[in-house]
Amino acid sequence: MARYTEAVCRLCRRSGDKLMLKGSRCFSPKCAMERRPKPPGQQPMRRRRLSDRGIQLREKQKARYSYGILEKQFRRFFAEAERQSGITGENLLVLLERRLDNVVYRLGFADSRAQARQLVMHGHIMLNERKTDIPSALVKEDDTISWKERSSKTEYYKQLVPSIESKIIPGWLSLDMEKLIGRVASLPTPDDIEIKVEWQSIIEYYSR
Ligand code: SF4
Repeated sequence: MARYTEAVCRLCRRSGDKLMLKGSRCFSPKCAMERRPKPPGQQPMRRRRLSDRGIQLREKQKARYSYGILEKQFRRFFAEAERQSGITGENLLVLLERRLDNVVYRLGFADSRAQARQLVMHGHIMLNERKTDIPSALVKEDDTISWKERSSKTEYYKQLVPSIESKIIPGWLSLDMEKLIGRVASLPTPDDIEIKVEWQSIIEYYSR
């Protein structure tokens, strides 16, 4: 499966925002945005103001990097959001948030979306009690997300159990803290999205 492989902290520095792509490191003083918040590469003598198109591109990239998906797939999500009734920007947010790798991350099973994607791709996660190794699978209301029997014997799982209580689970998901079984209590709304992006700019970017 195609995925982004460049050093991820560069993406934050390029976006000018903390995209929280590296789990606990993002909260530590080691975060590259704390130490070198400038864009990567040689610095121009004077920074130019971004054009409207530049702002639209930056916002689109921020969303894409945050969810860790490539342009082609992001466009597919956008096309699907356009097909649905309602506001395209909000549809897009909700679709991205419903991705299985994002749900695994939001349930606290992983420290970052990249790590959550790995857990899914390596077959540790079950969706409605069936092994699902497709990170882009979309969850629906009442779906359950659990661990494969064999995966619940791993060291990773054993360390996760005592730490899960300290994680903040969004209201649209519920979690059985003992069995580590998550449930989609309701579909997410735009207010549930933690990523701060100007979604209108993304619409404008693709409307050209
Ligand atoms: Fe971004 Fe996290 Fe790297 Fe900081 S540590 S630059 S927030 S990915």
